[in-house]
Amino acid sequence: MDNDVKVKLEQFKELVRKIRSYYEAVALLHWDLRTGAPRKGAEVRSETIGMLDTEMFKLQISDEMGGYLEYLSNPNVADQLDDIDRRIILDCQKEYERNKKIPAKKFQEYSVLTAHAQTLWEDAKENSDFEGFEPYLSKIVDMKQEFIEYWGVKGTRYDTLIDMYEPDMTVEKLDQVFSKLRGRLVPLLEAIKASRNQPDNEFLNQIFEKEQQEKFGLFILEQMGYDFEAGRQDESVHPFATGLNPGDVRITTHYLLDDVTSALFSSLHEGGHALYEQNIDANLAGTPLAEGTSMGIHESQSRLWENMIGRSRSFWERYYSDLQQHFGPQLQDVKMEDFYRAVNRVENSLIRIEADELTYNLHIIIRYEIEKMIFNEGLSVKDLPQVWNAKYEEYLGIAPPNDGLGVLQDVHWSGGDFGYFASYSLGNMYAAQIINTMRKELPQFEQYIANGELLPIKEWLTDKIYRYGKSRTPSELILAITGEDLNPDYLADYLEEKYKEIYKF
Ligand code: ZN
Repeated sequence: MDNDVKVKLEQFKELVRKIRSYYEAVALLHWDLRTGAPRKGAEVRSETIGMLDTEMFKLQISDEMGGYLEYLSNPNVADQLDDIDRRIILDCQKEYERNKKIPAKKFQEYSVLTAHAQTLWEDAKENSDFEGFEPYLSKIVDMKQEFIEYWGVKGTRYDTLIDMYEPDMTVEKLDQVFSKLRGRLVPLLEAIKASRNQPDNEFLNQIFEKEQQEKFGLFILEQMGYDFEAGRQDESVHPFATGLNPGDVRITTHYLLDDVTSALFSSLHEGGHALYEQNIDANLAGTPLAEGTSMGIHESQSRLWENMIGRSRSFWERYYSDLQQHFGPQLQDVKMEDFYRAVNRVENSLIRIEADELTYNLHIIIRYEIEKMIFNEGLSVKDLPQVWNAKYEEYLGIAPPNDGLGVLQDVHWSGGDFGYFASYSLGNMYAAQIINTMRKELPQFEQYIANGELLPIKEWLTDKIYRYGKSRTPSELILAITGEDLNPDYLADYLEEKYKEIYKF
């Protein structure tokens, strides 16, 4: 490598580390806001976040950055770099080009607004107060619409947002994949509803002390291989995972006293996200590649652990007796088989995060369609509750009694995360496709789970996915692991097989 190149590359990496430090500070402040920061400090805190975010933003689009990118992406120079460095440059370039188009003042305004709105949303949800929250949400949508103009419309306006979370994914592809998936899930749901073998799940809704729930959740996280020296679990209104760096990946959960499964499966879910980020190769730390490659792949890891492992029969063959012992009398008379069937009961319900594996995808399709209406058809925020309720009636046959259980249930929109929801279903589809390959390459897969040996599974996933962080794109990963592109049939096959057996049809 020429000495000149070497020097410039080092300077560039120094700037990248500086940006990463801001990223970490902002992520930590967000974490703190949502895990018990004093309410009265929230407004000032939001401004602090906005300020730091803006500093980071300025560095990302600085002339200094522009200069390095121009120099390092010159073919004569790029030829001398290794693959990882080239990927870092590409990632910074994408960020640079995207952010350069937004005036810094606008960005700061947006950042303060969304940080504040996330706090307001917690109250709005609790009080089912859509009207009070509506002006903030409208403002967020207006700003997002403005940003789309700055970024430039690719395909449709909504495509521009989808691309943020799932590179290479388009509305056209999603329309196809979702319609294929829905085509197979709707008849399956009908067969399930018609079955005479409905699992009973009432015993799940007894009182389960929070301390016991917490202990069991931590035990399961440990079994998965979650590294408590590189993370911690706290409580928040809406469970989430946040990776500050591979040595500090935090998760949260939310306890419901009258439901033993809610916090447990959310720990498995967020634990799956965390395993991904804790096991990214050390040589990517301090670079923008030290995170998941896309939200869809991220969700594939959380949902793989939550559902395909955590809701499998093998898993409960191993862990059910532990669960019984943890809680004393509540589950003493409940058989493992009945518990397994209960946690896999399919129900048309209102709340996405508590939905079963099948109807979950319908919750996502509803959000996807609504977001598409907002950005491509100009649906007004004021009309959201009405549209939301109508779609729930149409897809799931139930209407929310209030907006807290309806349109206000998710945190995403308050943070401006439009375009994110599709990732959850993509995650289910990727996960089923990945597991299909894992079963072939790890023939003892079921046995490992039934023995409580979860580490070989974590290692396989580390080898195929985790360690690469963002240095491979979602489509490269899926193709390399499974030998084909995204295919929704694997998820539909998996669900059919599972539910035919549970519901006996
Ligand atoms: Zn998730």
